[in-house]
Amino acid sequence: MIDYLSLQKVTAMHHDEIMDAVARVVDSGWYLQGEANERFETDYARYIGTTHCVGCANGLDALMLIFRAYKEMGVMADGDEVIVPANTYIASILSITDNGLKPVLVEPWVSTLEINETLIEEAITDRTRAILLVHLYGRNAWTPGIQDLCERWHLKLIEDNAQAQGCGNSKFKIQNSKLADADEFSTSCGDSTDIMRHSKLADADEFSTPCGDSTDIMRHSKLADADEFSTPCGDSTDIIRHSKLAGAGEYAMENIQDDATSHATQPAAESIPQCNHNSQLSILNCQFPRTGSLGHAAAHSFYPGKNLGAMGDAGAVTTNDAELARMVRAMGNYGSTEKYVFPYLGRNSRLDEIQAAVLSVKLKYLDEDNLRRKQIANYYYANINHPDIYLPGKMEWEIASPMAGRADCRDEDCIYHIFPVLSSHRNQLQQHLREHGIGTMIHYPIPPHKQHCYAGWNALSLPITEHIHQCELSIPCNQTMTDGEVEEVVRQVNAFRPKR
Ligand SMILES: *Cc1c(COP(=O)(O)O)cnc(C)c1O
Repeated sequence: MIDYLSLQKVTAMHHDEIMDAVARVVDSGWYLQGEANERFETDYARYIGTTHCVGCANGLDALMLIFRAYKEMGVMADGDEVIVPANTYIASILSITDNGLKPVLVEPWVSTLEINETLIEEAITDRTRAILLVHLYGRNAWTPGIQDLCERWHLKLIEDNAQAQGCGNSKFKIQNSKLADADEFSTSCGDSTDIMRHSKLADADEFSTPCGDSTDIMRHSKLADADEFSTPCGDSTDIIRHSKLAGAGEYAMENIQDDATSHATQPAAESIPQCNHNSQLSILNCQFPRTGSLGHAAAHSFYPGKNLGAMGDAGAVTTNDAELARMVRAMGNYGSTEKYVFPYLGRNSRLDEIQAAVLSVKLKYLDEDNLRRKQIANYYYANINHPDIYLPGKMEWEIASPMAGRADCRDEDCIYHIFPVLSSHRNQLQQHLREHGIGTMIHYPIPPHKQHCYAGWNALSLPITEHIHQCELSIPCNQTMTDGEVEEVVRQVNAFRPKR
């Protein structure tokens, strides 16, 4: 039996370390807002690449607290509009309606399943205050066009990063941008080869990615200035400027070689991977800024099944805005700024010490886990071959159809929280895999606008979103899978024969 996701197996990978961390909290006698919380907030802010992280009770609260804080700060008011993808988990939309704001649903691309940037502008009105960008399925949904829109219309860019912890953004563009501070965007170098070297699924060649336009963008932007782009590895700009290859793949490989020496001096068990250009520590998979650091604020969920999962509910907000961070922290702590002083009407949404301690342990392995997911995904892309099954987000050069739109998902831009396939025989495919011992899930069977709780929208027609919900099937893709299991999934998917 191949489970869709066994949390027992996920925990077993670091069982003793997790138990020790939990035991330390239990024995400390301090269960809320203590050292473990402070440490995780520091670790996670550095990992994501923001100056602030505020822990809270779950991912939905993280989203809600951002909107609530903006309302308290006078940035948004009742009835203001927030643009959000129609194809998302309901929590994204609940956080908007819960705050008396109005969600404006925008269709996704079929090729990436992420929001279609060309449809955003027509959805903007004089009440629009924000775009809630959802990195659904663990795919980076950010595009330079979305950033341009936010700047042009003075919108807040808020990320729902619940499904994308550790995801990179290889598409960044730095051009006279307010959001884009070159300092914030420069990152440390990666070291993604070690893990690949040890797996037979991992062919380093297959793993290197197409030379996309990220280097082009760098070449033409002020980032291409050696001083601004300098990283702990030192000469990455030199590599870009002087390399005849000048491609993202080669750029990564050069950095990895560079990094091999510095890596040796770091004890692996102590290194929290982080996205911080001041860091001397080795980083896995962080040649690019990370999702969760791309906009004005981001919400993260550590629901147990997420790529970085707690042993219960947990969440966080990351931001570079000190005032917003302060307000989010206050709103999640009864609206208080100091003990028994309440300037705001808040709620209670805090990250407890046990969850924080567990998350600090698991954060150390997140890049490694994500890399294993990428290997599996790439194996699926290379080997699933079926006329009735469409693999969204397959490498961009393979996508030509105008219907598919722009596919801009590369390896750096996916952490495969979910590996979705689309088939018009979805239910039969799920049945077939079940009969052959393979667990699957549907993300999601009913789109938010067809749900009972949003009865007023049920008549809306959002055909691409509805199509995705009718055809989507998530096949197993996680770090606990063996090569044999991955091969078996491919065999059974390819062996599927729909009854017509
Ligand atoms: C899981 C999830 C949330 C909510 O997180 P919780 O911690 O379960 O509250 C929000 N948005 C998306 C896209 C999610 O997948």
